[in-house]
Amino acid sequence: MMNRERHPHLRNKEDTVMLPALSRVAVCGGTHGNELSGVYLVHERLKRRKKSQVMEPVAVVTVMSNPRAVQRCVRYTETDLNRCFTHAMLSLSASEQTSYELVRSQELNSLLGPKGSAEAMDLICDLHNTTANMGLCLITYSDSDWICLHICKYLQREMATIPVRYIHYDIPRSEAYSLDSVGKHGFAMEIGPQPHGLIRANIFMAMQEAVQLLLDWVRLFNSGAQFEGGSVDVYTLVKNIDYPRDPHTHTIIAAVHPDLQDRDFCLLHPGDPMFLSFSGETLRYKGKEPLYPFFINESAYYEKAVALSLARRRKVEIPAIRSSRM
Ligand SMILES: [Zn+2]
Repeated sequence: MMNRERHPHLRNKEDTVMLPALSRVAVCGGTHGNELSGVYLVHERLKRRKKSQVMEPVAVVTVMSNPRAVQRCVRYTETDLNRCFTHAMLSLSASEQTSYELVRSQELNSLLGPKGSAEAMDLICDLHNTTANMGLCLITYSDSDWICLHICKYLQREMATIPVRYIHYDIPRSEAYSLDSVGKHGFAMEIGPQPHGLIRANIFMAMQEAVQLLLDWVRLFNSGAQFEGGSVDVYTLVKNIDYPRDPHTHTIIAAVHPDLQDRDFCLLHPGDPMFLSFSGETLRYKGKEPLYPFFINESAYYEKAVALSLARRRKVEIPAIRSSRM
């Protein structure tokens, strides 16, 4: 049942939902300075912008989020920028801003937000790479954001070279910590596998195509086109799993099992191999229900004690939508 309180625009299931046009869109890259597809895509966009000065029907802002980390080709210089966008962190006073990234998060909040305000960007697409074999994923905080879900559906239909999936982190909006949460709508566009600190042509091209398609979709939406309803598979994060560790030293004592490595979004059943200990022992998944693994062996998550994440999949019905601008 659709909840009319949560979806005030929705009259009944058959109706087209009218939503405000997306007149201001931000494409951000280099939020993590060593995720090079987004870094070079933003470089290219900024270069082209200067040359051509084309007038676009939608105002697209292109942003290099963490220039200092990009310059050094590191994820961050002092703290992970993409964890700095909670309301609590954004409201720290100048004297409490202890790191470059905290200061930068507030600058970005002024530029693209303020988060939660009417002035905030209508849509933020933040570009990321993962070392995991995840294809292209839109990572969001909502399983009922019709804009993000329709964009995902469009990318799934139009992108020939790479699978496209929708990941949902079920966290209250106020606790949402990533840059994309500053926009009225937003997602991280995560593409892999690509090691950090290098660029692979196929991954770069896929990201470039996806950003182009995203902006095409926004132009179509703003021009009053109707997008038919349907359904999208949504992967909701259930839990993260850490590497097995020595109880005293906390050193990792096992690697991701070869049978699981690179098998992101392949259903993991109770009893399936999960880790291979350095002494050769297979450690199995002990959960009660089969779940979908993703971010398997993401290299940036060793410091976050995450070997992989597990998600539950369900089909979300989405209504037809149209821009209310007309
Ligand atoms: Zn990233």
